[in-house]
Amino acid sequence: MRLGIISALYEEQQGLVEAMGGPYKLIHGQREYWLGQLWKIDAVCVLSRIGKVAAALTATTLVEKFGVTHILFTGVAGAGDKTVQVGDIVVAESLIQHDMDASPLFPRFEVPLTGLTHFPADHRLAARLMDAAQAFLDRDFVDAIDPLEQAAFRLTRPRIHRGLIASGDQFVNDREHINGLNAALPGLVAVEMEGAAVAQVCYELGLPCAVIRTISDNANENAATDFMRFVKSVAARYAFHIVRRFCLETEGSAVQASSESAGV
Ligand code: SAH
Repeated sequence: MRLGIISALYEEQQGLVEAMGGPYKLIHGQREYWLGQLWKIDAVCVLSRIGKVAAALTATTLVEKFGVTHILFTGVAGAGDKTVQVGDIVVAESLIQHDMDASPLFPRFEVPLTGLTHFPADHRLAARLMDAAQAFLDRDFVDAIDPLEQAAFRLTRPRIHRGLIASGDQFVNDREHINGLNAALPGLVAVEMEGAAVAQVCYELGLPCAVIRTISDNANENAATDFMRFVKSVAARYAFHIVRRFCLETEGSAVQASSESAGV
């Protein structure tokens, strides 16, 4: 396994790069690709920057130039449903481009000539991320997040949701907009700006991918308030600990699988 980890914002990626063993930086297409070991997993970390085109270019480069075999996207997102709260974690079951609309030539949301509206996330990776997120909430959360920040953002009982993530080249910060998306997209849990682009690239190149997001806002008029504070003091720590648990678990199951196949 060679794991590509994409983050959209610098603060989220910083901790992972600092944790890398033998980090080695390569610049390509105006991005820094960090190659190294993350908790014994061969990994490449990169900042995609924001939006679908930026994310698609980054994912394609990870595959074609750096030979990754799996892609994980970590970031923040706006809540896509009333049951989803700031501080909750969402794991994509599938992803859709909510600003794709070539109707009446093709149905709304369908990516022309793929026949698809929903691009799948890999089930096994998603299940591992759910486990890693649960382990983070059960065992790391209390110590990892400053109590003042827990209080400021009312992070009393963060929960994990699995469902549909919608991506578009828009920061959604309007109540009518998010309500309209929620009504049009059954199972919606979050809105963001990159995940579905990565999912389409991985689908077309035949690679497993997964997307995990921490909910930073309610995608309404208040969405931009405290956004960067949340990313720095909360979401960056979520991303670090969840990726750590994911890598430890993945390494553990690889060791187990190889000892089982060796008859140990
Ligand atoms: N203020 C930031 C801009 C962040 S854009 C800056 O100056 O850098 C928002 C980022 O967070 C994107 O990567 C997107 O995927 C995610 N995101 C969080 N909340 C969102 C929302 N309500 N709508 C769309 N994307 C959102």
